Amino acid sequence: MNEMTPIQSAAQSAARRTTHFIDGRWSEGGPTFPDYNPYNGELVAQIAAGGRAEAEAAVAAAAAAFPAWSAMPPAERQRLFLKAADITERRLDDIVATMAAENGSSKVFAAFQIRLSAAMLRQAASYGYMPYGDVLRSDAPGRVALVTRKPLGVVAGFTPWNGAFYLAWRAFLLPMAFGNTTVIKPSEEAPMSAGLIHAEILEEAGFPAGSFNVVTHAPGAAAEIADVFFESRAVRCINFTGSDKTARMLGERAGRALKRMVLELGGFNPMIVLADADVDHAVRAATFGAFLHQGQVCMNTRKIYVDRAIHDEFVEQLGARVGALKQGDPADPSVIIGPLINQRALDQTAARIRDALDRGATLVTGGTSQGLVHAPTVLAHVPPDAICTTGCDETFGPLLVVEAFDDAEQALADAQATPYGLSASIMTRDQARAFAMAQRLDAGIVHINAPTMASEAALPVGGTKDSGWGRSGHYAVEDFTEIRLTTMTDGPSRYPF
Ligand code: NAD
Repeated sequence: MNEMTPIQSAAQSAARRTTHFIDGRWSEGGPTFPDYNPYNGELVAQIAAGGRAEAEAAVAAAAAAFPAWSAMPPAERQRLFLKAADITERRLDDIVATMAAENGSSKVFAAFQIRLSAAMLRQAASYGYMPYGDVLRSDAPGRVALVTRKPLGVVAGFTPWNGAFYLAWRAFLLPMAFGNTTVIKPSEEAPMSAGLIHAEILEEAGFPAGSFNVVTHAPGAAAEIADVFFESRAVRCINFTGSDKTARMLGERAGRALKRMVLELGGFNPMIVLADADVDHAVRAATFGAFLHQGQVCMNTRKIYVDRAIHDEFVEQLGARVGALKQGDPADPSVIIGPLINQRALDQTAARIRDALDRGATLVTGGTSQGLVHAPTVLAHVPPDAICTTGCDETFGPLLVVEAFDDAEQALADAQATPYGLSASIMTRDQARAFAMAQRLDAGIVHINAPTMASEAALPVGGTKDSGWGRSGHYAVEDFTEIRLTTMTDGPSRYPF
């Protein structure tokens, strides 16, 4: 592919439009909706506005492709995944540009996702060779029992706009690596970064027609596509990454349709800084963990519990470091804090800061905004009744709360007194103590001496409680396969009648 792809062109010219990718072809014509740059309000692209017909065609294509894709030898699938990894890396610059324009990603965040995605594609390339099952003993004379894993069929994926590029890869490649075919419905907030670029890469890599499909839709039209996924007998699993609010609504439908649902949801991720921590390191980890993508990542640190002995020193250093983060247009590679995704996100962040300040909190740094860029904000001495301290839901923006503690046991209890259980972090020089604390944290991920915001291709990311139950890495085999028991009996058996 030497010429500019539709997404590359769309990122550079407002006149361009994108289309759906169904059964190995880009669709033609049809209605569109505008995709705007959240930093400057400019039109980035016109996106195809699909609905029931496109979703039905995509599901039919995925169902038709399933027998051949699921039977493809692991070596052939491996070649395709490795090729897709190379293409992803080759396209780093244009994908960074699209992500800056479409969802306000800084270069740091976009490049991190692209490298992580290439690594995940290379990991997934080997999943076809994972153990296929077990041979079990039976109490019946002459009987052998085989337990083998098989793919589910069509997996329909809902992808979010925030960690758009990496999370959409997770939606395509984890099901596909285990033999399923996919239909992806990207978020309307970032359809190129959350699915369409991936279709270009998979097409160029030579994945068979129908094995992956992408249907985009206008704001407010997600439900029409979801209807098709829930109604179709061919769709065997709904793979959802997004907010717990949407997940609850879709989960009720999955229950009625008796469909498997994999959920990767939000978090209210605490960091606990013990008195013996390296303060400089803890401040750097906190700054990165809280403000990557201006606080719009499920694993961002939302609240830090600091031993009172080092609280003031920690807060002073944190305020200075966070206050120095460069804000502005994410198209500038030196900018760390770009715009929030939309006005609603900005209003929610600002309202929660105002609420805390009205109740007597101390503003350490931030608190202002310009356009959709909200300054990274740290609050201390926040009263317990302020909305942002309760952890009742995520403030999906650049807001971090710091609280002093006198008793580490109490901090441990407070840190998990939220409905979520995604990621947590403990900063200390005492590894053994931290390990013991980590075992008592109800969270899917605990990092000791590292930020809450950390990901590696081979490691399982996922939550507990209202953060969902899906897992990435090869652990996703549990989510995207089912087991079949086959018994073989040699000779006649005895029966009760
Ligand atoms: P969202 O729930 O608004 O949207 C997620 C997906 O659901 C999108 O594709 C959207 O179009 C679709 N959707 C929304 N309403 C729908 C409806 N009525 N019917 C059918 N589909 C509908 O979430 P978001 O704002 O895109 O993403 C941010 C959220 O995702 C945050 O809560 C964040 O913490 C969470 N998240 C979790 C993880 C994880 O791995 N645990 C990763 C990224 C984001």
